[in-house]
Amino acid sequence: MAYVGRFAPSPTGPLHFGSLVAALASWMDARQAGGRWLLRMEDLDSPRVIPGAADAILRQLESMGLAWDGPVVYQSARLERYRDALGKLQGQVYPCGCTRKELEDSALAIDGSRIYPGTCRSGLAPGKTARAVRLRTGAEPIRFSDRVQGEMRQSVEREIGDFVLLRADGVFAYQLAVVVDDAAQGVTDVVRGADLLDSTARQILLQRLLGAATPRYLHVPVATSAAGEKLSKQTRAADAGPGEIAAALEFLGMNAPAGLPPGELLPWAVRAWEPTRIPRTRALAAPA
Ligand SMILES: [Zn+2]
Repeated sequence: MAYVGRFAPSPTGPLHFGSLVAALASWMDARQAGGRWLLRMEDLDSPRVIPGAADAILRQLESMGLAWDGPVVYQSARLERYRDALGKLQGQVYPCGCTRKELEDSALAIDGSRIYPGTCRSGLAPGKTARAVRLRTGAEPIRFSDRVQGEMRQSVEREIGDFVLLRADGVFAYQLAVVVDDAAQGVTDVVRGADLLDSTARQILLQRLLGAATPRYLHVPVATSAAGEKLSKQTRAADAGPGEIAAALEFLGMNAPAGLPPGELLPWAVRAWEPTRIPRTRALAAPA
C-alpha cells in the first residue's frame, strides 16, 4: 500500500523542539518511502487553541523546508464525521453522568494514572443526567509492535478504563477524532512523540470497532530539559526554526556530516534516516 504519513499538531502555541523532532521524523519517514505527508490541525479543544497558532506552525514548517502534500485539514471543520462515527458505535457506548469531582473521588489510581471505575456502565444512577459519552472497553489486551519502542501490550479496560469519546463540554475526544481522521485520510504510518504511546491501544480498539485499518506506529522519544522535565510549548519555542534541524537530527541519532551546506541538510537526512538509530526510550534530554 502506498505510504501516507501525517503530522498532526495542536495549535496551542508554536512548535517547540519536541514537536519539531516529531514533525521531522514523520516527514523523513514519508519522504524516504516516497510517500505523501499530510498536515492536520488538531484544533477541536477550542478552550486550549490559541488564535494565530495554526498559521504560526505552518510558517515554521515552511521556513524549515518541511513541505506537506495537499490541503491542511482542520478538525474543527469535520465535526459531522466524528458525530457519524459515534453513531456507528451505538451499543458500545454509554452516557456517563459523573461530575469531575465524582470522577476524582471514585477513580482507581494505578501508577499515578486515573482509571474510570465503570460507575455508569449499567445505566445512570437516579437523578443523574448524561454529561459525557464513554466507550465500553474490553479486558482483552491490545498488542502492537512499535518500530522504535518494540512490542507493546495494554488492557484498555484494566489500565485505562472506559474512556470518553464525547466530553462533558460537547467536544469530541482526541482519541475518536484521530482515529476517524487517520482512516479518512488513508494514513498508513503514524510517526509521533512517545507521549502518545499510551493512547495507541485505545486508538487501535476504536479502529477495530469502526472497521478501520491499523497503521504502523513509530513513537520517537519525548524531548525533555536537561533536568528531565517535558518541554513546554514555551520552552525553546522561539528557536524551533531552521537552525534547530541539526539538533533534532542529533536527537534522533543522526549526525550530519560536518560542512554540509544548509540546503543539503534535508536531502541528506531523507537518505540517512534510519529509525533503528533512534534511542529506544520514551523520553530523552534535548541537546543543550
Ligand atoms: Zn460515570
